[in-house]
Amino acid sequence: QGAPELRRLEAADLAVLLPAPHNSDHKYTRGVAGIVAGSARYPGAALLAVAAASACGPGMVRYLGPEPVAAALALRNPEVVSSQDSPLEVRVQAWLLGPGIDGDDAQDERARDILLAGRAARIPTVVDAGALGLVQASDDGGNAHLVLTPHAGELSRLLQRCGVARSRAEIEASPRAAATEAATVLGAVVLLKGPTTVVADPLGAIYTQANGTARLATAGSGDTLAGILVALLAMGGRDLPTTAALAVALHGELARSAPSTPLNAGMLAGRIPAVWASVT
Ligand code: AMP
Ligand code: MG
Repeated sequence: QGAPELRRLEAADLAVLLPAPHNSDHKYTRGVAGIVAGSARYPGAALLAVAAASACGPGMVRYLGPEPVAAALALRNPEVVSSQDSPLEVRVQAWLLGPGIDGDDAQDERARDILLAGRAARIPTVVDAGALGLVQASDDGGNAHLVLTPHAGELSRLLQRCGVARSRAEIEASPRAAATEAATVLGAVVLLKGPTTVVADPLGAIYTQANGTARLATAGSGDTLAGILVALLAMGGRDLPTTAALAVALHGELARSAPSTPLNAGMLAGRIPAVWASVT
């Protein structure tokens, strides 16, 4: 039978796959993205993820996190609805948990609550960075609504917790095998980030995307990808692995098509409208 053929999304696929609004839409049918990110120590991760999510044009971005971070967000993204409410009280169609939440107990608790409730509610949920440590292995379909977005170091730690020893170097040498193994062990979609990004689900590796550039290898670039992904999931229409590959392709295109000046992660979200227009 052999390994399944790997797919790769090209710029032309973005035109077909990126969501567009319908005439009859209102803000709740355009998709509500909920973001649990940022902490006193790492406020920037929340700003980057929220800016990227909002620039993709979902119906609403809801932010749950510390008040000082919400205050900073209000100045940069006034359209975002922030609160310190229980995450289970708000209507959200896709969650992002984790960028910059490290060491913040209240953020950890929100992320835990959402992961627990999500097992029953099946809301698509991106688990990144600081929230990856909250994920448990599952072989009963309990994680089927999750998209995990580790880089090689994070995946090594995650597998270690599940009793599988894979060094960062091994994962970097064989990203396809590592992503497939992780997706099987964890029972979730795994988006393994790196120079080549692989998206795998528990049945095997599905997409491999290498359209980015090393210009993405800067702090905060992963937070931007996570924000794009949660917005596209909230807007819906495609399965989890395809939406994950779509986010990676758009993220890569933001850098690939940028003028050849120095590029930092804070510049990426601002490029979304022009790049979106150029590919659709
Ligand atoms: P993070 O490690 O969470 O900040 O995420 C880094 C992001 O940059 C991921 O989307 C990686 O796929 C991307 N990236 C990092 N290094 C490279 C590289 N050398 N070439 C292309 N993309 C990269
Ligand atoms: Mg990261």
